[in-house]
Amino acid sequence: MMARQGAALRYAIVGAGMAGILAAIKLRQNGEDFTVFEKADRIGGTWRENRYPGLTCDVPAHAYTYSFEPYPEWRAFYATGGEIQTYFEAVVAKYGIGPAIRFGAEVTALDWNEPTAQWTVMLASGEREAFDVIIAASGVLHHPRVPALPGLDSFAGPAFHTAQWVDDAPIDGARVGLIGCGSTGVQIVTAINTRVANLVHFQRSPQWIMPVPQFAYTDEERAAFRADPALIDAIRFSDEYLGNVRRFTDAITDIDGPQMHAIEQICLENLETSVKDPELREKLRPNYRAACKRLIYSWCYYDAVQHPAVHVETGRIAQIEPQGVRMEDGTFHPLDTLVLATGFQADRFIRPAGVTGRDGLTLDAFWARRPTAHYAVTLPGFPNFFMLNGPTGPVGNFSLIDIAERQWAYVDQLIDILRQGQGRSIAPLPAAHADYEARRIAAARTTIFGSGCSSWYLDDEGVPASWPWSYDAFADAMSRPRLEEYAISA
Ligand code: NAP
Repeated sequence: MMARQGAALRYAIVGAGMAGILAAIKLRQNGEDFTVFEKADRIGGTWRENRYPGLTCDVPAHAYTYSFEPYPEWRAFYATGGEIQTYFEAVVAKYGIGPAIRFGAEVTALDWNEPTAQWTVMLASGEREAFDVIIAASGVLHHPRVPALPGLDSFAGPAFHTAQWVDDAPIDGARVGLIGCGSTGVQIVTAINTRVANLVHFQRSPQWIMPVPQFAYTDEERAAFRADPALIDAIRFSDEYLGNVRRFTDAITDIDGPQMHAIEQICLENLETSVKDPELREKLRPNYRAACKRLIYSWCYYDAVQHPAVHVETGRIAQIEPQGVRMEDGTFHPLDTLVLATGFQADRFIRPAGVTGRDGLTLDAFWARRPTAHYAVTLPGFPNFFMLNGPTGPVGNFSLIDIAERQWAYVDQLIDILRQGQGRSIAPLPAAHADYEARRIAAARTTIFGSGCSSWYLDDEGVPASWPWSYDAFADAMSRPRLEEYAISA
């Protein structure tokens, strides 16, 4: 078999969300040949799909951009989902990525072909096309998790998951039930509490709330950002943001250290001082440590939940009935609309697309125990297959754009081996990955995510599915792949 000798590679990027757009821009800048497959009819990923009231990104807006594409137009310190979608659309237009995206093109299967060292991409339409490299950028929180509540189908009004918002569902002046108290449920409370006749917030587990400031940028400030990008840099590279990211990742890995104690103290004080009614305060007091579940950053949740129209229901749901929700103690909440803020199946990644690598190894088989990837990016047995925001990557209260950019730097160096004709395929060595995963699992169990709460961070065996070391360790790992951990096939 011949080495590639510098022949042009063809790339298939799966997904036109934040990470897929990033890969497309990088390849375009390098003059390379790629196609983006997007099953929907618009770019944007999570920001396209989520349109619920109150949708905001709790990462400061100026830090939630591509590093190479700052954006002076943000209207506030924390941006709304709609603004973020606008940002991504503007970036796609600026870099001319649109024509390379195939919309309505759902990838159903990817098959590795050893003799040609290529992947066959199969679409729902039945089309098939060969590519040298796969960039799997299909997102993490993508498949809604709809709870198996008895009688859910019998509800007479609109009942829907937050990622499938029904625009004409009764909210204004209506009786609304909201199940779920994660980042999504909390944001919805803050947006509809003054619109509804009443809001029953079904809260199985309360959340710790980190108080953060929110403020609008004025026209003058936006003009200043346009005139002087250094003003934007001063925000996105500030100690307030980057320092916080570092302190946060230090905290989650050193759970008895001073940073974690500081986080716990701030959250506790927020609860004690913000919630006036002692009964409500106890309902809202978590029985697990702050940051065990994804910490919620909010400037207005405690105010919103104390609005007289909001009732926090902490009982257990017995069943959904046509006119409302019946609790186990017999209480009945009559409702017009039922919103399921119940989260996502976080273990799916590129699935349900069927991925078959070397020697017939399927992704389902490789991930039978838990989804994993070498340094969150590559998989043994799946050559020339690179994940952005894949399993075991960092999760938390920071920008996943930054994470994807650092991952791209790692991927790019691996692909260089192929570009330079040093081999036709590259994949991590099974032993190297096994060693990574053993170290990762051992460390993950000791992070705050493993300190005793339920969350989407945990896999089926209760092991946190995330990067368990510091931000700097991640940055360092991504800056230079250890090529000795890879098998390069000629
Ligand atoms: P989530 O954090 O997984 O929360 C799901 C909620 O639904 C939890 O409160 C859970 O209760 C509850 N729940 C699930 N099944 C239930 C059932 N059968 N009965 C009663 N309650 C049930 O989901 P999410 O709020 O959509 O957030 C997911 C992630 O999206 C976040 O952690 C974050 O990473 C991301 N997000 C980010 C932002 C942002 O601003 N950056 C905004 C929204 C979302 P338990 O806790 O008891 O399981």
